[in-house]
This record gives sequence, structure tokens and C-alpha cells, in this order.
Amino acid sequence: MRPDQPPADHDDLDPSDWPATRAQAHRMLDDLLDHLQGVRERPVWRPIPDAVRGGVRQPLPRRPTPLAEVHEEFLRLVLPYGTGNTHPGFMGWVHGGGSVAGMLGEMLAAGLNANLGGRDHMPIEVERQILRWLGPLFGMPEDAGGLFVTGSSMANFMAILVARTGALGPEVRLRGLAGAPLVAYASAAVHGCVRRGMEMSGLGGDALRAIPVDRDWRMDLAQLGAAIRADRAAGLRPFLVVGTAGTVDTGAIDPLEQIAAIARAEGLWFHVDGAYGALARFAPSLAPRLAGIERADSLALDFHKWGQVPYDAGYLMVRDGALQQRTFAAPAVYLGRAERGLAAGSPWPCDFGPDLSRGFRALKAWFTLKVYGTDHLGAIIEQTCVLAQYLKARVEASPELELMAPVNLNIVCFRIRGADPDRLNRRVVEELQVAGLCAPSTTTLNGHLVIRAAIVNHRTQPRDIDTLIEAALETASHLLKQ
Ligand SMILES: *Cc1c(COP(=O)(O)O)cnc(C)c1O
Repeated sequence: MRPDQPPADHDDLDPSDWPATRAQAHRMLDDLLDHLQGVRERPVWRPIPDAVRGGVRQPLPRRPTPLAEVHEEFLRLVLPYGTGNTHPGFMGWVHGGGSVAGMLGEMLAAGLNANLGGRDHMPIEVERQILRWLGPLFGMPEDAGGLFVTGSSMANFMAILVARTGALGPEVRLRGLAGAPLVAYASAAVHGCVRRGMEMSGLGGDALRAIPVDRDWRMDLAQLGAAIRADRAAGLRPFLVVGTAGTVDTGAIDPLEQIAAIARAEGLWFHVDGAYGALARFAPSLAPRLAGIERADSLALDFHKWGQVPYDAGYLMVRDGALQQRTFAAPAVYLGRAERGLAAGSPWPCDFGPDLSRGFRALKAWFTLKVYGTDHLGAIIEQTCVLAQYLKARVEASPELELMAPVNLNIVCFRIRGADPDRLNRRVVEELQVAGLCAPSTTTLNGHLVIRAAIVNHRTQPRDIDTLIEAALETASHLLKQ
């Protein structure tokens, strides 16, 4: 190419017809608002027909397709076949319902296309503000670390890495574990991602001791003490104890205050997995139940569950922000950090976790917190627990049903009585899901398969609890007659 002949302008990806794109964009937004407004009128979930599943199996699109056509395909192939967690009848696993304010925040974030790895721009200040708001609720000091991540699986993993740096010093980053016999503790009811975090950190899954739980599914402290003593006697090095604020099976809250005291006395890092439970701090009636959480060295929580922020929006808080930075920060010349200009503002979010490029998750959380207010969000959280008590009462009032675990927060585990109850209850849950009436899930407690209703969604009302009970009993009686 000759230097006096610059190349011609090319077509960029922006619309050639802005007014038409604008009209189409408004239609797309309207469609989704209609979808949310009418969510209750549709089935919670529906099985995916083969033609639909196959519908997306198309060759790599080398040529353009009009936006409206792709949107039409979305309406046909994707929208009707979601998980259903926006639906008030969805009670499976521990899924959040999302919110309109959160969705709109996410849309704006996509338009901004901000990269929150670092540099000096307001989106990072919004992310920092979330920590200024939430930190004090959890007893975190001003210089704590706080970071949005995908979810609590990632937050718990990162907390293990920070605790590992706390135990072995930043040299661990160079030398690895070098045979350090670190061991950690969590209740037998801890979420599986904690064990996986131990695996991924190089500490090994077996270095996580599963401490038995009491009848209320809370960590047994005598057993914790005994395990720590036994490990020390064997020449191992206890370094971390994980307490759970809201276990995923039954919503149990470990005795956080006492675990904090044991951690202090034993010199252990105290991490709390508050994935779904921590935001109960927004509800005055529930907040005292989490006493001790404010003593955590680190805390994982999910805005995408009880916080009603659309996926994904996990969060990690670390009391010693400097230690978190020593765990992850890495100098890199190509980042070109500076005191002035766009490359100012260090430390950057990328210094506090493994991600460099990061989206603007904080914006949908910021919108959700501001638009609804934490009092209202707290009232919603409280209401899910009231509904759980109502469900519990209905279970206890039905001779065909049996409550299978204490109802601590918003999770109810029950089953239908009958010969071969595991099979019966599994089939009932499958039938309910396929019928689209409501969507509980199952779990196994003490070797029994149970129906688990986790009420997380702000849209769930008492009539949805009635539907669950009535549909479960009706389905069971059908199955028993067959
Ligand atoms: C949901 C959950 C997790 C996992 O969090 P993700 O956001 O799904 O990665 C971990 N622990 C508990 C107690 C949970 O409820």
C-alpha cells in the first residue's frame, strides 16, 4: 500500500439505518417487558421439543441476518424455553427471580461496554460504592476488599486462595504449597463448591474436613474442636474454617459467633459462605440470626439470589484488602499504570482477583439496590421466609405429607408418604416440572430423597404455595393409582 493512499473507509458494525434499529430495539425491550408482565400466565417450564432444540443447530452464520429476524428466532426458540426462575412458581434449587430494574441496568451496562478490570472511570467508582454500602452491614472496615465475580463458587474459591496467602505468605505464589500440610474445616452440609475450591487451589479436596452437623443441620462445634485437635496432633496445619449462612439444602445457619471464636482462638481464617443467606442482613427480623457474620475474615454472597439482581452477580468481601491484593495483584508493563490520565486509579479491580477484563456487574446491582431500596428488598426476603413457614404449616396439616428438615429460612424439605417414597417423590417432582405448574427440586437428606422448595423469587405469593401443595398431592394420587 502506498503511504499517500490511505485505505478507503469500511462498513463498521453500527446500524446503517439508525431509526429502523431504534424502532426494532424498542420492540425488543417491549417484548421482554411483556414477557415479564405476563410471566404468571405461562407454564413455569416446558420440555424443549426436538424441533426447537434442533432449531439453533445452524451453520456458522457467515452472512448477515436482519436484527428483526434474529429477534424473531429468539422469541420462537429461546424465550419460551428458559429455566423458569423468573416465574413465581419456580422453587427449584436456590435461583433468584431477577428484577426489571436489574435488567435495565444490565442493558445500560452492555451499551456502555465498560471494562472494569482497571483504569480511571466512573463505572469502577460505582463498583467501589457497592462495597461502601455493603461493607458496614457485615462489619467490614473501609479498607476491606470487595469485588463482583460470577458467583459464590468463584468467591469461595478466591477466599480459599486469600486464606492460603494468609497462612503461607505471598511466597506461595512462587513456590506453591511446597508440602505445607494445610487443612480446612466446613460442615458436612457445606456447598460442594468449597471442596472444589480446595481442589483447584492445590490444597486438595481431602484437606477439607467435613464436620458432622447437629439435628438442625448446623456445624457441630464439639466435632470441629475435636477435628482441629486431631489434625494438630497428626502434625497437620489447620488454617481455615468455613461457616455457612444458609446452607443450600435446608437453609441452616452455622453457629457463626462460636465458629468465629474458635477461629480466633485457633488462629484460623474465618470465611463465611453467605451465598444466598447473607443478604438476610437487609431484613431487621432476620439480621440477628446471622450474628457473628460481622467477624468473618472473608464473605461470599450472591446478589443474583435473594438480592433479585439478574445473573450473574456474585461478590467477595475480604476484611484484609491488602492481603487480597497480595494474593492476586501482578505487575504487567502492558497495563501502563500511571498517576495521571486514564491509567490512573490503582489499585484496580484486577488486583483483587483472577480476572483482568471484567464486565459492569455492579451497575445492575446498583440499579436494583437504588430502585427498590434495601428496606423493600429486606421485606421481600422476609416474605420468602413467611411463605416457607406457611408451606411448612400446610405440610404439617396434611397427613399425606411429612416435613423432612427444620425450616430455618426460606427452604422447605418435605415428602409425600407412600411405599417406595424416593421413587414416588422423584416422579412427583418430575411430573410437576413437566406440567409447568410449579418447579420444586429434590435433594437427599439422611439418605432420603425429599422435595425441596426454595422460595427465593420476589414474585412468589401464597397462592403459589397452595398450587405446590395441591398439585403435589394430586400428582401423587394419580401416580399411586397407576
Ligand atoms: C448458590 C450457592 C453457592 C454457589 O454459588 P453460585 O453463585 O451458584 O456459584 C454456594 N454456596 C451456597 C450456600 C449457595 O447457596
